[in-house]
Amino acid sequence: MPLRAILHIDMDAFFAAVEQRDHPELRGKPVLVGGDGPRGVVAAASYEARVFGCHSAMPSSIARRLCPNAIFVKGSHGTYSKVSKQVFEILERFSPAIQPISIDEAFLDVTGSTHLFGSPTNIAIEIRRLVKEELNLTCSVGIAPNKFLAKLASDMNKPDGYTVITNETIQTILDPLPVGKLMGVGASTQRNLERLGVRTVKQLRNLPIETLTARLGDFGEKLYRLSRGIDDRPVRIDQGAKSISHEHTFATDLDNADEVRAIIARQAVDVASRLRKHERYTKTISIKVRFGDFETITRSTTLENQTNETNIIHSAAKALFDTWAKTFRPVRLIGVGLTQLTESPAEAGLFDNQSSNANKAVDRATDTITNRFGKNALTRASTLKAKPAHGLHGPGSNPEDRPS
Ligand SMILES: [Mg+2]
Repeated sequence: MPLRAILHIDMDAFFAAVEQRDHPELRGKPVLVGGDGPRGVVAAASYEARVFGCHSAMPSSIARRLCPNAIFVKGSHGTYSKVSKQVFEILERFSPAIQPISIDEAFLDVTGSTHLFGSPTNIAIEIRRLVKEELNLTCSVGIAPNKFLAKLASDMNKPDGYTVITNETIQTILDPLPVGKLMGVGASTQRNLERLGVRTVKQLRNLPIETLTARLGDFGEKLYRLSRGIDDRPVRIDQGAKSISHEHTFATDLDNADEVRAIIARQAVDVASRLRKHERYTKTISIKVRFGDFETITRSTTLENQTNETNIIHSAAKALFDTWAKTFRPVRLIGVGLTQLTESPAEAGLFDNQSSNANKAVDRATDTITNRFGKNALTRASTLKAKPAHGLHGPGSNPEDRPS
């Protein structure tokens, strides 16, 4: 198994944090999101409420007894899923290999991203910075060679922290842990192991594999591996991706329309190649522009036929921008997005003259080279105008600009 770099990103007290962010009067207070009726259940507890022992999935009646001053908030799933999308959009800037675990938690395989964005730790730091800066929320990140260890790590410095587990530190970190920290080890396995005198991972590791399999069957072999920090499960890319987008915020406003066009071209190349990587097609292309005064506009266009071609996506995005370029104002943020994704192209129109076999061949060649040598290996002529001197934030920016 080649060395991998996996991040586990977990938002801190997600629903409660969003409520506190959006309702300043809740900040610093014990907040419980969920129904407060007799059969209500806590969906999320703010850290102020956790001090009292409240936690998610707890009956609200018990939480209220533990913390009589807690403020119950009904919560809005619409808001949370909107914010969740924004979080995933940040993650997508660093790698297409995202596996969502829940609305506020995901694995990200950044093995192939380090040549663009620096070390896995740098990527984690950058993700945390962007989540804080753009969404005013905190997350915890675990950085490790596999999913099991990354998830374990994200919990070690929570909230608002990150932990790195390297091959060298695996055993030091795992050994003292109670076996209950291993995936799949519940109360009954714990009792079973206790009869063998095993409470810690180190004690587990000292058992011969034969003893473990005799006692626990296949799961015994799994535990043998987990106690050594071995986990080969791949990060499974979300098969249900509904949208793909790429945004840049500039340190200094861009005051030249051609530079903005160059960024749009680069973003179109990126979103189109991710679209093909996910084996999806799009019908709706949008651009987002934030001006220097923070006014933000989103404009979209719907094509007649589904496409996954860079040229078509780029022309549509450029046309959307050009309608605004006539009254150009300095731009602070620009983004290209694709929505209405489908798994297969619709019946191609008889007179589908936008699409050409030549374009498709160029895209295929581009993808092959990008997959082998990375995103920066190829640069389309129209993207060459983007000047790194402007201090881009986000993917495509100069890796040297990243914090280390
Ligand atoms: Mg969470």
